[in-house]
Amino acid sequence: MPVLPTILLIIDTTSSIPLFPFEHKFCHNENCCNLRGGTKLKELVVISGKGGTGKTVITASFAALAKNKVMADCDVDAADLHLLFQPEVKETHQFRSGKTAKLDMRVCNKCGKCVVACRFEAISPGFRIDPISCEGCGVCSHICPQKAIKMEENLSGDWFISNTKYGPMVHAKLGIASENSGKLVTLVKNQAKLIAEEGGYDLVLIDGPPGIGCPVIASIAGASVVFVVTEPTMSGLHDLERVAKLTSHFGISPLVCINKYDLNTRMAETITQYCRQNGCNLIGKIRFDPIVVESLVNKKPVVEYSNNEVAVAIKKIWEECLRIIT
Ligand code: SF4
Ligand code: SF4
Repeated sequence: MPVLPTILLIIDTTSSIPLFPFEHKFCHNENCCNLRGGTKLKELVVISGKGGTGKTVITASFAALAKNKVMADCDVDAADLHLLFQPEVKETHQFRSGKTAKLDMRVCNKCGKCVVACRFEAISPGFRIDPISCEGCGVCSHICPQKAIKMEENLSGDWFISNTKYGPMVHAKLGIASENSGKLVTLVKNQAKLIAEEGGYDLVLIDGPPGIGCPVIASIAGASVVFVVTEPTMSGLHDLERVAKLTSHFGISPLVCINKYDLNTRMAETITQYCRQNGCNLIGKIRFDPIVVESLVNKKPVVEYSNNEVAVAIKKIWEECLRIIT
């Protein structure tokens, strides 16, 4: 079997929503990148090795500073950009993903074949299917002589297209304990790209998920620039190392910023050394300042809320990002 790129593994072939919207041979959009003299739409993804580093604080400020962009909140497991931006939801769509077996007792003859066949012990001897244990493999449905078991699609969450004062935003809400967040990330990101292409926007600004798992891989696949927010702690360094390995797999040298660097200047220096030796471009450091929390409480990006040292540092980092991305 040929080896497929990771991104192909999360295509939903049953969805009517285009996960890959850029089929240029069918494209008649005058704003399309092919028809814009080759000006390619840029994708800036902001990630961190883990939650709580200040990723969304910085993304929100970038959103306030960036011109002509579409935003995508790809942190679908714990989306929070909408709390700051108070979006006006224009469209709501269901996100369906995976399947669960449903048994019809009116047709079942209680032969017990499905109970034996289910490797996940999801079917009780009384022929009840536990939807939590069911992995949706479909074996029971396949072997049932009575065709008493049907596979039904799961409703796993919702995704939205909204307007904000900073421009269009695509965001989502994954259901509790729902899986396939990588697929939802891809969907959110590609919808944002579609809006950007159709509207003639230059940039898709993506608030990525934390960690280095499937959702992060989905968010950085195809990115022009990956911006990593880290913090001056041992776990911040380890997370940066993991993220840097991941981005190098995609041939991307990440831009890095150390948030709250003054809380541990020695560790900040260690991270600086790491960046120097490992091809990461450290483009800024931001001081700890309680005004960041104050700005969040007031639902404003810190660059709008204040003009203090932290806001100035973020503005400088954004200018450097812009210089690199354009
Ligand atoms: S295999 Fe089909 S007929 Fe047999 S017990 Fe299971 S559901 Fe009923
Ligand atoms: S779909 Fe698979 S996991 Fe679910 S009940 Fe049937 S055999 Fe078990």
